[in-house]
Amino acid sequence: MINIKTMLIDGMPLIGTGEPFSVINPATEDIICQCNMASTEQLDQAVAAAKRAYSTWRQTPDAERKRLLHEIADHLEQHADELASIIVQEQGKPLALAQIEVGAAVGWTRYTAELDIPEQVFENSDTRYTTAHRKPLGVVASITPWNWPLMIAIWHIMPALRAGNTVVSKPSGLTPLNTLRLVQIINEVLPKGVVNVVLGEADIGNAISRHIDINKVIFTGSTPTGQRILSNSANTLKRLTLELGGNDAAIVLPDTDINQVAESIFNTAFLNMGQTCAAIKRLYVHESQYEEMGKALADLASQQVVGNGLNPATTFGPVQNARQYRLVSELVEDARRNGGHIICGGEASSEPGYFYPPTIVSNVSKGVRLVDEEQFGPVLPLISYLEIDDAVRMANSCEYGLGGSVWGSDLELAETVARQLECGTVWINKHAEVLPHIPFGGCKLSGVGVEFGVEGLLEYTQLQVINRHK
Ligand code: NAD
Repeated sequence: MINIKTMLIDGMPLIGTGEPFSVINPATEDIICQCNMASTEQLDQAVAAAKRAYSTWRQTPDAERKRLLHEIADHLEQHADELASIIVQEQGKPLALAQIEVGAAVGWTRYTAELDIPEQVFENSDTRYTTAHRKPLGVVASITPWNWPLMIAIWHIMPALRAGNTVVSKPSGLTPLNTLRLVQIINEVLPKGVVNVVLGEADIGNAISRHIDINKVIFTGSTPTGQRILSNSANTLKRLTLELGGNDAAIVLPDTDINQVAESIFNTAFLNMGQTCAAIKRLYVHESQYEEMGKALADLASQQVVGNGLNPATTFGPVQNARQYRLVSELVEDARRNGGHIICGGEASSEPGYFYPPTIVSNVSKGVRLVDEEQFGPVLPLISYLEIDDAVRMANSCEYGLGGSVWGSDLELAETVARQLECGTVWINKHAEVLPHIPFGGCKLSGVGVEFGVEGLLEYTQLQVINRHK
C-alpha cells in the first residue's frame, strides 16, 4: 500500500469528503491506496486559496520565481527514486521509463524556470510609444491524464507558476498518487496556496470548467473530455489549452532501409506501451517493403520482456487500466474479424494484471476500427500503399491532427511529404520527440493551443497593450 491519500489545500493536508475510490496497481490488480474525491466545497476552498495566494505570487519578482522553481527541481531530484516507484506502482510502466519520466520532470522544471517573457515594442515614434506586456491570468486549473502523469503535471504547473499564476491541480483518479506527492514537494518550497491539489473525476472536472474564479484550464486528455471542458467554460470565457487525442500516422517512403528505421519506429509506436498521445498509431509502408517491415517489427516485439515494471528485467509493462485493456483487446478482435492478420501478439495474458503483448496487425485499412480510432495501447496497424500521394491522403483522412512522421533517406522528398500532413508536428526520421524549447500542440480534434517554449508560456498570460502618447 502507498499511504498518500491527502489532497493539499492552502498548504493543509485534507482527506476528500466526496466519494471513495481505489487506486489499482495495473500489474497486479491490487488496491494500493484508498482515496476520496473532493467535494465541490473543497474545490471552492482550493480555488479561494489559490486566489488569495495570487495577490502576492503575481508580484514576486521574476528572479525569485526562477530561484524557487529551481529549488523545486532540487527537491524533485532528492525524491526521484520515491516518485519513480510510485509511478511504476500506479501507472505500470517499467522502472527505467519511470526514472526517465522523473528526470524529464526535473529538466522541464529547470528549463521553464529560465524562460523569459519578451516585451514587444510595436511603435516608438515621435508621437507614440506602444508596447505589449504580458500579465498572469490568475488561478489556473490543471487537469491531467494517466499515461505520463508526473511529467504532464509538471508541463502544466511550471509554466503557470513561472508566468505568475497560482494553481489548482486535478490528476486522473487512475494515477493520482504521484501528483499528490508532487504537490507536497512543491509546497515544501512555495508559499501556501500557490499550488493546491484536489481529487475527483467528471463531477469535479465539470465544476472546475464552470468555476467563476478559475481563469484558465490547461487540460491533457481525451477529445470528448476536452469538448466538455470547452462547452462548460463558455459562460466564464476561460482561457483554454487543450492537448487532446491523436491518431498519428507515420509514412515510410519507398526504398527506405527498413533495418535502419525499424527499431526507432517500434520504440515510438510502443513508447509507454503505446499509451502516448503522439505515439505512432498508424504505419503506412510501401507495398514493396510491407512484409519486410512487418517481420522487422515482429522481431523487435519478440525481444520485449512483458511483466511487472518493478522487475528490473521488464521492458514492457501492463496497460494502465481495465477500460483501456478492454478497448485494445476489442480493437484487435475487430481487426481479426475484418481480415486483419495478427503478425505478433494479439492474445491478452490470463495472469492477473492488464498485460497485453506488443501486437502488430497487417492487412487492415481505413474502415477498420483499429485504423480509424485511437487505440492508445500496445497494438500497431500496418497499412500498405502504392503511391506516396495515396499514403498522404490516407494519413490525412482522420479527425485528429496531433503528430505525424515521414521516414526515408531522401530528406527533400521527406520534407515535401511532411508539409502535406495535417498535424501540429511532423518529425522526419523520428516520432514522438517533445522538447521543452519547441512548441507542441495539435490541430483538428487534437487540440487548441500549444505547450512548451516561449509560445507555450505565453498561453499562461494576458496580453496588455500600453499606448503612451508623446
Ligand atoms: P480522459 O479525458 O478520460 O481524462 C483526462 C482527465 O480529465 C482526467 O483527470 C479525468 O478525471 C478528467 N475528466 C474526466 N471528465 C471530465 C470532465 N467532464 N471535465 C473535466 N475533466 C474531466 O483522458 P485519459 O483517458 O486520462 O487520457 C487518455 C487520452 O489523453 C488519450 O486520448 C490521449 O491521446 C490523450 N492525451 C493527449 C496528450 C496530448 O498532449 N495531446 C497527452 C497525453 C494524453
